[in-house]
Amino acid sequence: MPTYEYIYGIAVATLFGTIIGSFLNVVIYRVPKKLSLISPRSFCPSCKAPIRAVDNIPILSWCLLRGKCRHCHTPISPRYPIIEAITGVTWGAITAWRLHAILTGVRLTGASLYEHLGILAALLVAASVLIAGIGILSDRIHSRVN
Ligand SMILES: [Zn+2]
Repeated sequence: MPTYEYIYGIAVATLFGTIIGSFLNVVIYRVPKKLSLISPRSFCPSCKAPIRAVDNIPILSWCLLRGKCRHCHTPISPRYPIIEAITGVTWGAITAWRLHAILTGVRLTGASLYEHLGILAALLVAASVLIAGIGILSDRIHSRVN
């Protein structure tokens, strides 16, 4: 029977997963362009306006801005919230599986299995999008994370 802690744990893991997904978006955009992952801060590739923290909340900001830059209203690819959502759901699912194993007494092989699966899931999302994006995505598809 799911407890409050069980649901809370899954919710926190899902939210954390969306933050990881947001970082994956940065990696996916910048690595093929050989850009730094650290600086400069995220900016609109169209108008060069910096992305404020309030406009950089995974999934939520894209929805509130209706998929457009706050300043120049250039469309932002739905790829960004989709990747954030996929990563969040993946992390939530892994956590649900882990908590279920704890609650039902199922033993996992190795204490670090959970962490490894989380990292693996993040890498798989990044790799999938990188592979799928070759030849499909172009600079015409503007993004808020660049
Ligand atoms: Zn803009």
